[in-house]
Amino acid sequence: MPKNSIQFQKGFSIPEFMHMYGTEKQCRERLFNIRWKNGYVCPNCAFKSYCELKSRSLYQCNKCHHQTSLTAGTLF
Ligand SMILES: [Zn+2]
Repeated sequence: MPKNSIQFQKGFSIPEFMHMYGTEKQCRERLFNIRWKNGYVCPNCAFKSYCELKSRSLYQCNKCHHQTSLTAGTLF
């Protein structure tokens, strides 16, 4: 089974998670998929269109301009 088909499982420790997903970019993509399974939804107004502020790893809602960190509210 290819590595990238491994699903996130409850009980994984952070070091295991980081090790498994290697680079920060890969980790971020996994986190995005976990946080927004069906795509980005603004936590403030539920709008689904956003832009990514790459320099700060933030996602900004195109409607209310609320900025969300991918790691907000998580152990990261
Ligand atoms: Zn919004």
